[in-house]
Amino acid sequence: MIIKPRSESLELKVLRCLNVRTTLTKKEKNYLTNLEKGHIGEVAFDKWLKNLSLECIVLHDILFETNNTVFQIDTLLLTADTLYIFEVKNYEGDFYIEKDLWYTLTKSEISNPLLQLNRSQSLLNRLLIEHGIHVSVVPYLIFINPNFHLYQAPLNSPIIFPTQLNRFINTMNNKSSKLSKNHFNLAEKLLSIRLTQSPYLRLPDYSYEQIKKGIVCGSCSSFITEFSDGVLICSCGFREGITPAVIRSVEEFKVLFPDRKITTSNIQEWCNIVPSRKIINKILRTHYKLMGYGKSSYYSEY
Ligand SMILES: [Zn+2]
Repeated sequence: MIIKPRSESLELKVLRCLNVRTTLTKKEKNYLTNLEKGHIGEVAFDKWLKNLSLECIVLHDILFETNNTVFQIDTLLLTADTLYIFEVKNYEGDFYIEKDLWYTLTKSEISNPLLQLNRSQSLLNRLLIEHGIHVSVVPYLIFINPNFHLYQAPLNSPIIFPTQLNRFINTMNNKSSKLSKNHFNLAEKLLSIRLTQSPYLRLPDYSYEQIKKGIVCGSCSSFITEFSDGVLICSCGFREGITPAVIRSVEEFKVLFPDRKITTSNIQEWCNIVPSRKIINKILRTHYKLMGYGKSSYYSEY
């Protein structure tokens, strides 16, 4: 049972929008690519977890803080007697270990994911003690990408390779696990002590003025230049009704500028291609909630 689903991180959403509407530096682009890859890996692992048939509670993407240290856990899985930590890596290609250091085959060192897992485990243990929670914690490092290989992998390490995932799920399913109300209370407790937003977002500086306005094609991500009879037509051939396109653009506006109000004027300027105020107003009125009165009114999510 999933009680905390995974959503795309704010960093990923913002960088995706910025990548289309501004020019990111090479470093920012690399960071975005890594975030995308990481997210794809996590979603792929979530799919695997759906094969679990034992009674358990799943919490995805949880952020905690203890002793002034913020740490994130990809997936927590609570069974009758154990709290599992899953750290998911979507690494691709060949890697090797030498004296506890991890390298790619081209000899560039990467940070040791086992150390990261150990760190998460000890921070989580500390946090649980602080809150008087007694449960045994078992960590696993999951490599999800079938094109990953690790030379000199240590035996008896908590690593699950792609070729072992099936057996791992089967082993888990063979465990007996009967959940009680206490387990659900524990899961609720974990949710209540988590952070909802990371205080350390790695985002580039940007301002409203420097961001390119317009509606982005839902298929190829270039800016739409043609609008007629309520339909947007992209040079790639993709056609889309104005309503879903405007809603998508409002969502981008919200991600990039959470402090700006959603008003007809603001969204018309943001979309840039819709000449009629009326059209924008109608879409906002039917899909968002009107807040306030008269000139100071704006729209908000239902
Ligand atoms: Zn297109």
